[in-house]
Amino acid sequence: GFGRFQGKTAIITGAGSGIGKAAAVLLAKEGANVALFDLLDDRTNKVEAEINQLQAGSARAFDVDTTDPDRVEKAILETVEIFGGIDIVFANAGINGVMTPIDDMKLEEWTKTLNVNLNGTFLTVKYAIPHLKKRGQGSIIITSSVNGTRTFSNFGMSAYSTTKAGQVAFAKMAALELAQFKIRVNVICPGAISTNIDQSTKKQGDLEEIVIPVEYPEGSQPLSDGPGKPEEVADLVAFLASDQSKHITGAQIFIDGAESLL
Ligand code: NAD
Repeated sequence: GFGRFQGKTAIITGAGSGIGKAAAVLLAKEGANVALFDLLDDRTNKVEAEINQLQAGSARAFDVDTTDPDRVEKAILETVEIFGGIDIVFANAGINGVMTPIDDMKLEEWTKTLNVNLNGTFLTVKYAIPHLKKRGQGSIIITSSVNGTRTFSNFGMSAYSTTKAGQVAFAKMAALELAQFKIRVNVICPGAISTNIDQSTKKQGDLEEIVIPVEYPEGSQPLSDGPGKPEEVADLVAFLASDQSKHITGAQIFIDGAESLL
């Protein structure tokens, strides 16, 4: 085939579900070899099998907790051994974590969300950079959220929103730092997308006590009736991963049906 990603290799974290899975399938359909990093073996193995049936790019599932530096480093080295290098990094794994009023949030709960969403992103990017440098170019895409900028759509998500804002700042710093190596870094901010993210959410405490002085339906998107689809986000990821976006770096791109404008 003559897909956009023929001969390219992509690392995708959180590839067992939702946005990461959709991106893995699309990139592989267009020829990429994809390294699927996720916690959940069974789900990730299914994605691996699904992609390998396509007879396009090939997939390999890795059991990786992105908060574990040794595991991330090792899985990246294995990816390079298997596929010969790395061209694309989609740092996407994330959790909603505990939703609760701030004065009820335990430090461990706060730290857990920061660890997965921020440390996990940092470690994935950190250990991939030397391999992108060897290629003389590369594309890194980070999944933030509308919550990184526009915070009131989900009450009780102080830790989550903090991490999503942090990812935007990190992406911009990385874009500037890595431009000299022709490595681009962009950050995407989805609004509500129908995935399994709710499984990573724990609502606790009295969320009703958080009174916001505006009224609007939670998660509503003026452009559409319901949430977006993971496949729609995957199209954006593929664009940012491809040479079609070769002059775009440090960009923060909303994909939210105008949710962030409310
Ligand atoms: P999802 O739960 O369907 O998929 C996330 C995947 O990440 C899961 O397979 C999970 O096992 C994996 N994961 C979680 N912690 C991990 C860890 N420590 N190491 C490795 N893998 C880990 O959710 P999704 O909606 O596809 O989420 C992907 C990203 O999109 C997240 O960063 C999320 O914050 C972001 N996002 C989602 C939405 C939405 O509405 N779904 C909106 C904005 C942003």
